[in-house]
Amino acid sequence: MKIAVLSRNPRLYSTRRLVEAGQLRGHEVVVIDTLRAYMNIASHKPQIHYRGQPLEGFDAVIPRIGASVTFYGCAVLRQFEMMGVFPLNESVAIARSRDKLRSLQLLSRRGIGLPVTGFAHSPDDIDDLIQMVNGAPLVIKVLEGTQGIGVVLCETAKAAESVIEAFMGLKQNIMVQEYIKEAGGADIRCFVVGDKVIAAMKRQAKAGEFRSNLHRGGSASLIKITPEERMTAIRAAKVMGLSVAGVDILRSNHGPLVMEVNSSPGLEGIETTTGKDVASLVIQYLEKNSAPHLTRTKGKG
Ligand code: ADP
Repeated sequence: MKIAVLSRNPRLYSTRRLVEAGQLRGHEVVVIDTLRAYMNIASHKPQIHYRGQPLEGFDAVIPRIGASVTFYGCAVLRQFEMMGVFPLNESVAIARSRDKLRSLQLLSRRGIGLPVTGFAHSPDDIDDLIQMVNGAPLVIKVLEGTQGIGVVLCETAKAAESVIEAFMGLKQNIMVQEYIKEAGGADIRCFVVGDKVIAAMKRQAKAGEFRSNLHRGGSASLIKITPEERMTAIRAAKVMGLSVAGVDILRSNHGPLVMEVNSSPGLEGIETTTGKDVASLVIQYLEKNSAPHLTRTKGKG
């Protein structure tokens, strides 16, 4: 196969590993800098140009689209889809997963376990919003945050009220979420490929911290997930329409709760922790499933 990897930087661990795994399995793999590709959408024959040449002959495309380039990255991916190239994840599913509120609404509609969550912009009754998620302690999250930044644990209703007021002053959309204390500062990253969890790791926050993000000093270890956790992760990816996803789960005393479904999950942490060749499993998924003009939506919907 001829495979394109849409990525801003060929030196990133995940990009490098996908290229390496693809080549080892006998494919031609080309990294395309997402923001450098440009497109012709006026003609009947959609094209993508790169470095002065049209991109041609690709069978599959692996999108590695960072949160900051979602808008343009999805447009490039959509163009590949219109050209009949098979996407590992479809542009529509990626765009959907980047909207945290929409994602939680979709997941809740399908009965996936979620922490009780309220959304707000300028709530006219902050007390009621706090009661909606069963009071303090609770977690407040800025919608656009990543790597744990903008995620605040409020121990008391008074503290929650002040934080909500502060975010209101900044005109930020926020999520107010019940605090899953029994998770003990840990979450589980399930790496889903197709209809399987192919690897899972536990991330544990450092002492005195509730956020398990590796960027916040958390540490990763191997974990054996329960059949219920496995089912939850697979269903969450499916609801989002993602073939490959990183599903983050909190272990609550009433079962697994999905926190987030990530459409470009990193490979470094999961491969290092589990010793699994995740990149190769992703390429094998393409080998089995890739076919021309298979994208269901081609960017519609
Ligand atoms: P980001 O997307 O910025 O990483 P998350 O929503 O994943 O933000 O939150 C960061 C971390 O905080 C999570 O990995 C988890 O360890 C912890 N956390 C988030 N929400 C909750 C919650 N409702 N209850 C307990 N811990 C939480």
